[in-house]
Amino acid sequence: MKLSELGAFELLPMIKRKEVSVEEATVGILNKIKAVDRDIQAYITVTNEHALQRAKEADLRLNEGKPPRPLEGLSVAIKDNICTKGIKTTGASVYLEDFVPPYDATVVRLLEDAGAIIVGKTNLDELAMGSSTESSAMFPTKNPWDLQRVPGGSSGGSAAAVIADEAVFALGSDTGGSIRQPAAFCGIVGLKPTYGLVSRYGLIGYASSMDQIGPMTKNVRDCAMLLNVIARHDPKDAQSYTGEPVDYTQFLIPDINEVIVGVPKEFLNKGLSKSVKDAFMKALNKLEGLGAKVVEVSLPHSDHALAAYYVISSAEASSNLARLDGIRYGYRAAGCEDSASMTAISRGKGFGSEVKRRIVLGTHILSKGNFEKYFNDALKIRSLIFRDFEKIFKECTCLVCPSSPTVAFRIGEKIRDPLEMYLSDVYTVPPNLAGLPGISIPCGFDEEGMPIGLQIITKQFDEATLLQVAYTFEQATDFHKKKPQLQKYDCGSESTRGDRNV
Ligand code: GLN
Repeated sequence: MKLSELGAFELLPMIKRKEVSVEEATVGILNKIKAVDRDIQAYITVTNEHALQRAKEADLRLNEGKPPRPLEGLSVAIKDNICTKGIKTTGASVYLEDFVPPYDATVVRLLEDAGAIIVGKTNLDELAMGSSTESSAMFPTKNPWDLQRVPGGSSGGSAAAVIADEAVFALGSDTGGSIRQPAAFCGIVGLKPTYGLVSRYGLIGYASSMDQIGPMTKNVRDCAMLLNVIARHDPKDAQSYTGEPVDYTQFLIPDINEVIVGVPKEFLNKGLSKSVKDAFMKALNKLEGLGAKVVEVSLPHSDHALAAYYVISSAEASSNLARLDGIRYGYRAAGCEDSASMTAISRGKGFGSEVKRRIVLGTHILSKGNFEKYFNDALKIRSLIFRDFEKIFKECTCLVCPSSPTVAFRIGEKIRDPLEMYLSDVYTVPPNLAGLPGISIPCGFDEEGMPIGLQIITKQFDEATLLQVAYTFEQATDFHKKKPQLQKYDCGSESTRGDRNV
C-alpha cells in the first residue's frame, strides 16, 4: 500500500514511531495531487510550499523529542469557503477570486495546532450553493469513480480529494447536505455535526442558521479523530456549544444490540432510484443482523422540508451576501459613475447564475408582504419538522435513510434544471432544519460501480451514538475499502486552469 493511501488511524502511529517522517507523508500526498488532479480537479489551490514548510517544522519538533500532537503530520484539504490566513479563499466565486484572508477560521487554527498539514483548498459550488460542484466559477470537479460524473456538492472537491488519496482527510461545510451528499457520491464518510458543535468562525456564511463545518474521511475512525479536534467551544461563534469536549474515539465499539433504528416511511417513495433502494434495504438487513431493532416511523412534515429549506436558505443567503458590495473587499467593477452602480455592476459580474438566483429569491422572500407569506410559513414548517424528529427520538436511538435518492449523476445532466438539482437534497435537508447531526457512510455500489451512501441521524449532540452505529456497520462491511481505479485514467492531460500551483 502506498503512503498516500493510508487513513489517519493507520498513518498516525507510523509518524509517532518515526517510521515515516512528516515530510515523507506530505510529499506522498503532494505527488498524488500532481499525478491525478489535472483530471479530477479537486483543488482550487495547492499549498505546496506552505505544506512542505509545515512538514519540516513538524519533523524538527519530533526530532527535538516533543510529544506528537493528535493529528501530527496528517495532510488535510480545506474547502475553499473556510478562511485560511495568507492562503487564497475564493469560495469558488469570481467575486472572491483574489481574496487572501487576514485570519484563520477557528477550525483551521485547531487543525494546525493539532499538527495537521494543510495541502490545499478544495473546489465547491460557488459560495456553497449547489449539489454538484458544477456551479463553481473555477471548473467542475470530476468524480474519481467516473470522470464523466459529478462528485456531488457543494463540498465535491473535498470528497473527491479524499477518495482519490489527494488528502488523508478533509473539511467540508454542510447547510443542506453539502458534506453528506458528496460523501455518498464519492464513497467516503461525511459527518455534519449538530448545529453549534463546531465553530463557524471564518466560514463564509451561506445560511447561518444551518451552516456547519464537518469531517470528510476515509472511514469512521478517522472521522471521530478529526471531530475530536474541531468540536470545541469557540467564543467567536455566538451559537457555539458550551459543553465539555468529548473523546469520540471511545465510542468506536462494534455493538448495536440495544439500538432501535427508525426508518421514515416517507423516504422510501418516489424519486428513489432502484439501485439506491436495493442497497438501502440490504443495509437495513445488515443492521438487523448486527442486533439492532428496525422499526417504521413517520416524518409527516418532511414533504415540505425542501421547500422550507430553499425559502430559509435563500433568505439568509441574500442577507449574508449583502456584505459583498464591491467596496470593502472582493471584486470591484472599474469605471463606474457612482457607488450604487459600482455595487450593482460588481455583483452582476462577480456572481454566477445560481448565486444570483438565490439572492433574487431571498430578497423577494424578505420583502414586505412576502416575509409574512413565505418566510414565516417556512419557519413554521421548520418547527413542525423539529417536533417530528423529537417525537421519533422518544422511541428510536437513530434514524436511517439513503443519503441521496440517486448515485452521482453525469456532468451537465441537471445543471439546467435547478428544481431537479434541488431534489438531490431531499434526504439531507431535514437534519439541517432541525439542527441534528447526520453522517453518510458507504453502503453499496450500483451496477455501474458507483458508490451509494447510508445516512444515519441522531438527536442533537449525540454524535457518540451516531459514530457507534456507523462504526458497527462499517466494521461488518467492506464498502469503505473499495477504491476507484485511478491509474487507468490519463493523468497527463492539460488542466483547464493553469494557475493552480499544482
Ligand atoms: N445543495 C444545497 C444547496 O444548494 C446544500 C448546500 C450546502 O449544504 N451548502 O443549498
